Amino acid sequence: MIRIERTALAIAAGLAGLLLTAAAPRAQETETEEMANRARLLQTLPADAAKRHFGTVKAALPGAARTIGSYAKGCMAGARALATDGPTWQVMRLSRNRNWGHPHLIQLIERIAKKAPQEAGWRGLLVGDISQPRGGPMLTGHASHQIGLDADLWLTPMPARSLSGGERESMSATNVVAADWMDIDPARWTKAHGAVIRLAAEQPAVARIFVNPAIKKALCRESTGDRDWLSKVRPMWGHNYHFHIRIACPDGDGACVDQDPPPGGDGCGKELSDWLAQQHKAYFGPKPPVSIDKKPPKPLPLSAMPEACQQIVLQK
Ligand SMILES: [Zn+2]
Repeated sequence: MIRIERTALAIAAGLAGLLLTAAAPRAQETETEEMANRARLLQTLPADAAKRHFGTVKAALPGAARTIGSYAKGCMAGARALATDGPTWQVMRLSRNRNWGHPHLIQLIERIAKKAPQEAGWRGLLVGDISQPRGGPMLTGHASHQIGLDADLWLTPMPARSLSGGERESMSATNVVAADWMDIDPARWTKAHGAVIRLAAEQPAVARIFVNPAIKKALCRESTGDRDWLSKVRPMWGHNYHFHIRIACPDGDGACVDQDPPPGGDGCGKELSDWLAQQHKAYFGPKPPVSIDKKPPKPLPLSAMPEACQQIVLQK
């Protein structure tokens, strides 16, 4: 298994990303908005763009599960779809066809969903984007979610009834962060929000969870007893409507590029206060000048993806 080094540069890179993709689609975008964005993109994207190939393939490549490349540049074969309805979960935004993932991740989501009502006082999961049928880059949203090992879980508990198809397309997730981005919004945040994130973090299969720094602040403040689980909960831009769970490369997947485990400690000190300050500055500080002649980056061509991914996406 290959490992790559990640550093605190994530803060700077994320800031640049935030400013560049301020209009990028988010979990709460409706089907109408999402489909309009996709149609517009498909008109202008080069024919060889990797995201055109991966974003339009409708079904998984059958066979054994195989994960190739890294969370933000890779693909998968043998993906399994999470059932759109379970006893304690419902999949949202079905039109996106992003409920595909590695079988280990799908089983994990089912496990968390099963435990959520009893152990976290959370009726069930509303599941957002996992991956596309063959993973890979998406037409809209997400830098990662490319190898079937990432999933977004809404910060809205499942209602007591089955949502209609229309509701799943148009309903918005809940933003639990306050308007100043420095803490949670006490009118929306509940104990159960903290408990369901903790429940997920305590699953041995979970390698990382991404939440907004304001949410991490609340978890740090409210956590009682053992604090080891907090090391897996990493501050990240956005993630104020959903939290993001990530599992490690499956054993034996030699072509899967893993991340180092998160640093030890609860991460509630300087790293977190730096994130909060940086985020506040990004939203409320002076904006960097916009250069007019700066061209948007060229979309990644399929030929730049790992060779196995090119074969996986092109196979009928
Ligand atoms: Zn995510």
